[in-house]
Amino acid sequence: MSNHTDAVRARAKQLLESGEVTRVIGHARGTTPYRSRPHFASSPEQTDALIHDVSCGSNLAVYVSKPKERVAVIAKGCDARSLATIIHEGQAERGNVLILGVSCEGKLDEGRLLRKLDFPPRQVKSVREEGDEVVVEGPAGDVRLPRDDVIMVNCTYCRARTPAVSDELIGEPVPPREEADQYPDLGGLDAMSEAGRAEFWRAQFEKCIRCYACRNACPSCFCPECFVDEYHPQWALHGGGQFRGNWMWNVGRAQHLAGRCSACGSCQRGCPVDIPLMLLNRWMERATNQAFDHLAGMSEQQKQLAALFRKSEAKASEHG
Ligand code: SF4
Ligand code: SF4
Ligand code: SF4
Repeated sequence: MSNHTDAVRARAKQLLESGEVTRVIGHARGTTPYRSRPHFASSPEQTDALIHDVSCGSNLAVYVSKPKERVAVIAKGCDARSLATIIHEGQAERGNVLILGVSCEGKLDEGRLLRKLDFPPRQVKSVREEGDEVVVEGPAGDVRLPRDDVIMVNCTYCRARTPAVSDELIGEPVPPREEADQYPDLGGLDAMSEAGRAEFWRAQFEKCIRCYACRNACPSCFCPECFVDEYHPQWALHGGGQFRGNWMWNVGRAQHLAGRCSACGSCQRGCPVDIPLMLLNRWMERATNQAFDHLAGMSEQQKQLAALFRKSEAKASEHG
């Protein structure tokens, strides 16, 4: 069960009342029962709008940018991985970020959820978790769905369900998924020939309209000037005729995120044309994990992969 709304509100209120932090960054209810939006509470009264349930998938570390005063972030494991990464990269002083960890069993993939329902999205009255199920209240009563069928696929393979880096924890620790094959989602790509994979990604990148929503959703995309904005920035292009540019953008971005991605899924959630960006991110994660035994943001001591020059150094850093 990962509805931590009451505990999150209570702790956020305490933190603001005591003056330990000036702001709490969390989620509030979005425009539908299966959506949340970011919420920034600066007073105890504003904590009443906070929620933390199965809809709270977006990575809140994206809102932490060199805070001058101490802020608290309601952090799932992937948010905490991103916070550890950006703190290490100089985007925030550790003392200015209180990581209020929350245990997590996966967050909704809106598309997967809605495809399971035989009624229109506007008829969803509520969404809640019960045991290993997500229960959707619809026009004819409750629809019970196995959680694994409606959460983001990357959540199914998450090893940070209890935040690896946090100042305190809300909820009981949740053990990581430790299947022998930690990347079964990549099986389809593995089965393809190199040419087949190139064709797969060509078809995906043809769809890209270069809206840069993936970049905006990502805590690790914080360069003041992104490489795609350096020369003749092009926005919201029609995908068909822009294949080379689209390829450069998507592959370039994935390379910049290698060893820095927390596998949160926010980029894929934000993509308006449903490009399976997590396959690309997970492919890069597997490559860096296998070569250097490195997963981003799994400890405070960990050095950044790109700052390491020897395999042995990477392994030593990973293990503290
Ligand atoms: S990636 Fe892990 S921590 Fe993040 S939402 Fe999914 S299960 Fe939770
Ligand atoms: S690349 Fe995507 S999955 Fe990785 S940290 Fe950024 S938003 Fe999250
Ligand atoms: S969010 Fe999707 S469409 Fe927009 S730039 Fe990223 S990959 Fe392309």
